[in-house]
Amino acid sequence: MSVTLNAYNKLLNILPIERLYVILSMITTLDNTLQRALAERFDIPLPLSATALPSLTQPGRNGGLGLRSMALVAPAAKWASAAVVANDITHLTNNMNNLLPIVTDMMVCYNILANNGVEVADRPQGYHNQNNQDAADYEHKKKLGFFECKHYAIPNNPAHLTTFYNGDTNLPDLQRSLTKQQEDHLLQTLKESNQFLPSDKVRFNSIRLKPTAHFINHNSSRIILNNAHIAMGVRMRLGIHPLPAFNPHTCPLCLKDMSDNPYHALGCGKLKQTVVHARHDKACALIAEFARSCDAVATCTTRSDGSKGDTVPDGYIYLRNKSISFDVTGINTHFKSYETREARTNGGALKDREGAKIKTYRQHAADNDLEFIPVVIDLYGRCGDKAIKLFEDIALELTSIDSYRAPHINMSLTDFMIELSCIWQKFNARIISQWACKSRQVIYKRNNRR
Ligand SMILES: [Zn+2]
Repeated sequence: MSVTLNAYNKLLNILPIERLYVILSMITTLDNTLQRALAERFDIPLPLSATALPSLTQPGRNGGLGLRSMALVAPAAKWASAAVVANDITHLTNNMNNLLPIVTDMMVCYNILANNGVEVADRPQGYHNQNNQDAADYEHKKKLGFFECKHYAIPNNPAHLTTFYNGDTNLPDLQRSLTKQQEDHLLQTLKESNQFLPSDKVRFNSIRLKPTAHFINHNSSRIILNNAHIAMGVRMRLGIHPLPAFNPHTCPLCLKDMSDNPYHALGCGKLKQTVVHARHDKACALIAEFARSCDAVATCTTRSDGSKGDTVPDGYIYLRNKSISFDVTGINTHFKSYETREARTNGGALKDREGAKIKTYRQHAADNDLEFIPVVIDLYGRCGDKAIKLFEDIALELTSIDSYRAPHINMSLTDFMIELSCIWQKFNARIISQWACKSRQVIYKRNNRR
């Protein structure tokens, strides 16, 4: 990634001095080269489909991998610089018959921005804050790194640049706002097109949530992911087959058609359940460990704790003001029924599964004076609302009254979410690898019998 950063830095140095229309093709070449480099690194077949490409170039908040397109950033950057100095150079631009590079650039930028969905406003009304945040709140959120940037339009006539922003020379977030509008517009156009399938909708709904990407951005000192684990996760986030080199139409194990469900491996009924159980058990153990690090008492049950047909939950957590039983389930949101449900409501499949689990475990919880919390996790690592609330409650346990533990012993909520994401991705990759291994053995035996 250091190569990427160097390339970007050089480009940003060239940007202010070169005319935009001269370097636009160079910027596009750079975008394409970076995409090719990433594709090679993660074994991604090229060219990328109409839905995979935005998954790569969109920012994290929209569910992308964040390899942002410089062809979108550059015009926004140029326009923002021109706006800031507009007042100082008006007399120059007026006397030079508009031949100055900055004027030509302004026009090029203006057309690109307007064509790419940036809001065009008639009156020089300046800019406004989209959410009416007050200044202190804005600064606070900016410090924490999850602020909504201010929203800016562009004038209906580029010559109004000097008056449109009230001659202001301090325009925070102008470039960011213009880039954001272009990115959002591209994504919205894709979502409204017929290339955007129900499976894409499920995928985008899940992966736009930050915790699902933790396995890419963060290292856990305890859960080490290798290249294959990460590459498989990246391909899944792009909507590409997790194993591009082994891609049969029919599952060799259960003979189901898997041409429209590349993630069949994660839910194949004929796969030995050991590795699926391992993913589940690791997640349960991590939840209990997180709770214990936050001063709660927590235990996990084992498979032998209940005879067949019993509804024994996966574990118990005793917080100061309530006792909880919980049960973890991983769901494959690409099953047809789940996709149909998700097409109607974002997160609907997770909610349905939570409801079903509550029904199953309600009696056991009532009999034992417990509150039952379902922990439902989809294949991208998105957790249901009830699980998120449980994790937040656990984290709050530590701050609720004085703790005797030293801070370094506690696992923070973020650390926990990072470990959960890493565990989930690592075991997803293992499940898929095991499915591929078994499938190849079956094919080999079948061929040798003939
Ligand atoms: Zn199968």
